[in-house]
Amino acid sequence: MFKKSSKKFELISPDNIYYSYTGEIFYKGIKNVWNYETVTFKKSEYYCKDCNTILYNKKINLELNTEDGIKKVNNIYSCVSCKKFHIIENDLVYTYDAGEDFEKKLYEFDELKNNIETFQYVDREKDLKNK
Ligand SMILES: [Zn+2]
Repeated sequence: MFKKSSKKFELISPDNIYYSYTGEIFYKGIKNVWNYETVTFKKSEYYCKDCNTILYNKKINLELNTEDGIKKVNNIYSCVSCKKFHIIENDLVYTYDAGEDFEKKLYEFDELKNNIETFQYVDREKDLKNK
């Protein structure tokens, strides 16, 4: 389940970016790390304040299980260092801490078209175990 928090993710600002003469982008104090060969995850405009790493995101069209019930989600963000997935709303963030399952979940999201039943099923199983 995605847990609610009021954590804020910062947008990467022009102050953090500079370009080399070849047009290459460099980031001041922000890491651009992505160790996975995903097809659909792209670099986002946010970075994680916990580990200063750029979040990667994927446009999706899914209903996910959050602390506030099932939510329609258009965009899922991922921090590769913290091994977490985030749903970013205006003042709220819903976070799924994938831990050791991070890679598995990432590829589930990556390969996904419009069906995330697998994800919800595994999620429910875990919730039951915690009771
Ligand atoms: Zn992080």
